[in-house]
Amino acid sequence: MAGTLYLVATPIGNLEDITLRALRVLREVDLIACEDTRRTRKLLASHNISKPMISYHEHNERERARELADKLEAGANIALVSDAGTPLVSDPGFHLVKEAILRDITVTPLPGPSAITTALVGSGLPAGEFTFAGFLPARRSARRARLREFAEANQTLIFYEAPHRVRESLRDALDVLGDRRAVIARELTKLHEDFIRGRLSELAGRAEHVTLKGEMVLLIAPAVDDNQIRPVLESTGASEPAPQTPGSILKEVEQVMRDEGLDQKGALKRVARSRGITRSEAYRAVLAEKAEAARKP
Ligand code: SAM
Repeated sequence: MAGTLYLVATPIGNLEDITLRALRVLREVDLIACEDTRRTRKLLASHNISKPMISYHEHNERERARELADKLEAGANIALVSDAGTPLVSDPGFHLVKEAILRDITVTPLPGPSAITTALVGSGLPAGEFTFAGFLPARRSARRARLREFAEANQTLIFYEAPHRVRESLRDALDVLGDRRAVIARELTKLHEDFIRGRLSELAGRAEHVTLKGEMVLLIAPAVDDNQIRPVLESTGASEPAPQTPGSILKEVEQVMRDEGLDQKGALKRVARSRGITRSEAYRAVLAEKAEAARKP
């Protein structure tokens, strides 16, 4: 009998965001197909799961899809996960699901985290109807053409965004769509989670002066927007770079390690980035804090 292909959503930051069913399935399957085996190994280790893994990423997904479908046909149960969130959503997996369906193999999706729904429900923009359009194109003309496609849509628009491109995207969105309400949802479920709400002109203005860092989702109000609750720019604040008060960087690094399952190196990198300092400066600050604590009676 053929096995089942499980599509398993995993956390987008906070390691606690994984369902009981996802953990059970990850424990029970024969094989886990994942984008980055090191990253998935960390997630599994944090839940005491040890399982054979096979890489499945954008560069090998076509050949791997056939290979994995052969294993499924031979009776193996396989879970597909991506680095974060729901597989297939701007992530690999489509070829495998298509191949499985072609071969009459059962595909079982497990609901769980995705940056889309997390950003949408916290944004304050209408959530009943929305259009998710993945990443905007990198080239300006293509990006503007894509935005024009959505100009008439009467739904909240959602785009994944990269920190090095958000400034240009905001400017183009303002030109093409007009000065609508918009939200940048940053670092969702992580220590510096932040919803920056305002008009596109305000967000674009802010992005000119401040480098917006971290993972982010851009949400834009529908063409007809009669649910206005936030006329002026505001940030939920939790996420502004933490002030470098003595004694705080060590705690911050420890919290990021705990919340996001990162090792010390990864946590230092993240904290350093959020404070606008280098990793070695962060490391020296942590050492200084530890030395200070050791000196105290
Ligand atoms: N499959 C994932 C999902 O279901 O959300 C999305 C993968 S896509 C390659 C990665 C993009 O998702 C990031 O560039 C960012 O736009 C968004 N994203 C992922 N995690 C995020 C987070 N914690 N906060 C904000 N945006 C996030």
